[in-house]
Amino acid sequence: MSGRRRVSIFGATGSIGVNTVDLLTRQGGAQAYEVVALTGAGNIALLAEQARALKAQVAVTADPARLDDLRAALAGSGVEAAAGPQALIAAAERPADWVMSAIVGSAGLAPGLAAARNGGTLALANKESLVCAGQLLIETCRAHGTRLLPVDSEHSAIFQALQGEDRGGIERLLLTASGGPFRTRSRDEMAAMTPAQAMAHPNWSMGVRISIDSATMFNKALEMIEAQVLFGVTPDQIEVVVHPQSIIHSMIGFRDGAIIAQMGPADMRGAIGFALNWPERRPLPVDRLDFAALSRLDFEAEDPVRFPALRLAREVMAAGGLAGAVFNAAKEAALDAFLAGRIGFLDMAALVEAALDALGPEAAAAREGISLDDVMGYDRRTRRFGEDWVARQG
Ligand code: NAD
Ligand code: MG
Repeated sequence: MSGRRRVSIFGATGSIGVNTVDLLTRQGGAQAYEVVALTGAGNIALLAEQARALKAQVAVTADPARLDDLRAALAGSGVEAAAGPQALIAAAERPADWVMSAIVGSAGLAPGLAAARNGGTLALANKESLVCAGQLLIETCRAHGTRLLPVDSEHSAIFQALQGEDRGGIERLLLTASGGPFRTRSRDEMAAMTPAQAMAHPNWSMGVRISIDSATMFNKALEMIEAQVLFGVTPDQIEVVVHPQSIIHSMIGFRDGAIIAQMGPADMRGAIGFALNWPERRPLPVDRLDFAALSRLDFEAEDPVRFPALRLAREVMAAGGLAGAVFNAAKEAALDAFLAGRIGFLDMAALVEAALDALGPEAAAAREGISLDDVMGYDRRTRRFGEDWVARQG
């Protein structure tokens, strides 16, 4: 029996996944870790390269039509190939000590839940699974003794600021937001913005979808709900502070008036590395802050008129139940339509609001005995609603 830590990465070929592979490689790669499963979707060449380099047991593509390509790319490597949503779940059921959940969207929920039944550590980048099924995921972790560690930089910051603190002392959580590429644009200017403009995040290099979610501030909206679920606070304990430099990753205000902030460069390897090495701190290959060069940190209030996403998140938290599943799916449908050039930038929030009006009250009433099928049922119905809404705009 070797003492190597068993690790899996869901969404290994994405922005978070590539950074995770980078850290595993720097910390000894296949000598130090027994890599169980790596997964991707369309990027077969990268997935196969990662699986070969880390000597993974199995590589899985979400796309069943790419199984032959993946087999060919892995020929002679000894790495198993598999494909499709069921194969993702089967991979998540393979025992592992540390699992990175970094698939984008609600597609990450089913594999994340399967990994939550494994009893190890679940490092969670896939915030969508907490938004659409927070209680289900938390309860599944609790029932199986799985430790849930946040990877989102804001939630990692709060978790870091909480080390050695009593959660009972929390008065409020202050989530920082860069404000995205349109922070200083008027609503009229925002109406005309294209996907390429919305993708250009000022500070962070991330996947396309989360970058556009930062421009609408739907990313921060999801993160408010994520914070509520992860830290068990009430909605009125969550504040958003616009901080254009993205140096303070978030803060906790304690009941004695003290604030603890966590700072660092805008490099996700900080938060990923913290979740990988916790409770240890190991050296990480991130830039060191130079305060003299920075010279200043700025703060602004959120603007609910140009960014309705934050108001909608508060409504979703107040509604409870499965309102989050409707919220997330509507946001995903709106983003698909925007990326396809079918709706404008501001229409995304309008679609989400319409979906919440139509399906939110019924979803909010769902409380007891919620299953994955219930969540995915609202996910599908909301995406259909979104499709009809978009068709009506034409
Ligand atoms: P990405 O688009 O770069 O990568 C997504 C990964 O998911 C890829 O490996 C892709 O192959 C896979 N994937 C896509 N569709 C899939 C499907 N239907 N089924 C299975 N796999 C699929 O995304 P990302 O920016 O790395 O973000 C991943 C998650 O981490 C998201 O939930 C995001 O909100 C969260 N997150 C990302 C960052 C960041 O800096 N990128 C920061 C905080 C949180
Ligand atoms: Mg974040």
